[in-house]
Amino acid sequence: MQHMPDDPSLLPAPWWVPDGGMHDLEVELRRELSPGHPLHEAEVTAAARCEGCDDILFRVANRPFPWAVVHLTWKGRKERAPWPMTTPLTSLAELLTEWADHGCNGTEASSPESRS
Ligand SMILES: [Zn+2]
Repeated sequence: MQHMPDDPSLLPAPWWVPDGGMHDLEVELRRELSPGHPLHEAEVTAAARCEGCDDILFRVANRPFPWAVVHLTWKGRKERAPWPMTTPLTSLAELLTEWADHGCNGTEASSPESRS
């Protein structure tokens, strides 16, 4: 039986947890959320970020899903839903299974191969 971590600091690369927190990411997310977005007025805490594509894992306190992966647009103001693109997760295990290959896996991102 495999025990899946619910601690984001235990997530494998490319997920990582910066020292000093990610308060600026939470602030930016709140700026971008507009009414109609699944995370609008949710209590979110930045938990980890993806080194490959800058997706952010947020812990969500008052929604049916406890986690969400968000790709911030860094527009600095309200986006129109569904932006910023958000993927709700029911567990961190999903992040390592269905969501593990979201286009920026280490092998792909760091591949020096170029077809010329
Ligand atoms: Zn990524």
